[in-house]
Amino acid sequence: MTNRQALVIGGNVSTVKSHNLRAVLLMLRQHEPTSRTRLAELSGLSTTTITNLTAELLEQGIVAEDGPVMAQRRGVGRPRTLLRLVPNARYAVGIHIGVGQIRIILTDLHANLLNPVSLAHPLEKPPEQVLRDTAALVREAIAQSGINPQAVIGVGIGASGLVNPLTGVNVVAPNLGWRDLPIRDWFTEWLGLPVCVDNNARAMALGEAMFGAGRDVRTLAFVYARIGVGAGIVVDNQLYRGSAAGAGEIGHTTIIPNGGSPCRCGNSGCLETLVSEPAIVRLAEELAAQNPQGLLAEHLQNGSGTSIERVFAAARAGDTATVTMLDERACYLGIALANLVNVLNPDLIVLGGICVQGADLLLPTIEATIHQRAFANLGEQVRVQTASFGPHTGAVGAAALALNTFFYQQPDRFLAVTV
Ligand SMILES: [Zn+2]
Repeated sequence: MTNRQALVIGGNVSTVKSHNLRAVLLMLRQHEPTSRTRLAELSGLSTTTITNLTAELLEQGIVAEDGPVMAQRRGVGRPRTLLRLVPNARYAVGIHIGVGQIRIILTDLHANLLNPVSLAHPLEKPPEQVLRDTAALVREAIAQSGINPQAVIGVGIGASGLVNPLTGVNVVAPNLGWRDLPIRDWFTEWLGLPVCVDNNARAMALGEAMFGAGRDVRTLAFVYARIGVGAGIVVDNQLYRGSAAGAGEIGHTTIIPNGGSPCRCGNSGCLETLVSEPAIVRLAEELAAQNPQGLLAEHLQNGSGTSIERVFAAARAGDTATVTMLDERACYLGIALANLVNVLNPDLIVLGGICVQGADLLLPTIEATIHQRAFANLGEQVRVQTASFGPHTGAVGAAALALNTFFYQQPDRFLAVTV
């Protein structure tokens, strides 16, 4: 008997079946297209159990069979049928709540995007109104997509700041000035769909683990730097949240113990005060004021794009003070990441936000600092890369949250709904 079978032996029949269905769906997601025999090997379940479970998934249209292919084993060809998930069997909604902007997507089971929509929200607008407008856009996106609303398994929301995923409350979002918002209950009421909420960097980490750069690794950290700086951690395909859902608050690790700039969290000298987008733009403005005829001042005044894009453009145009300033920022972030590597020893660090826009300028120093500062050769072993889904990274992560919660982890829930 395998460990997996032993693990579920004391449960009731439906618990055992749910557990086994979860295992099959997870293996299919990671290894599709794959055979029943291989699913049995990977999951530790018997081939009879796999045959029964996949029969149900085939009947529901969740799984499809590819034609028989010849499997070569020890020189003898054996025909076998490969199974795969049917991407458009079910859909999820992903909502990324950023500072000043909300992004909404509908995705299928493979995180292919349908109807991406974005909504700017002025910071002075009351949060309940912002979120009501968001819910209205979600209803519109589902209606316009032409998909069967019954096939939408739920809504995932990646929110800014501290989120309690058990209660669905956005406890505090310092960069938005939001506090104690019952986001899950509001959206459940407004949309009539199951809703799950987590921190947005954490959602992005799950998106990379399920559909992006982290599909083939066991441990990854997603570090998102924009107005705030936060990290999501995935260990063995599961989000690591810590004891009070505060794991990954890398932006509030102290880098400057004395004399650092005040941080929105109430402390000072936090990483966020050194490497966030507003911090970098503020430093650039100071540099430009010191040299009003220089390249940086020229780019900040007459360049195109957002302020941070103008700063990056000045560095690319060869403004040495800007290059040095960005190099220092990359070094601070590299130090924080080296500390993270020493604690977590991840296979992969994925960087999002301004690290994507300024990857050519920031990544070499970030990587060199990790190599230099992490213990022994841990820094050389970790792969560092930028996020997989461009501007949709947050929304794909939020959709991954919904797919994980309402599809992969709770198969009974979607099997009960006929589409
Ligand atoms: Zn702080």
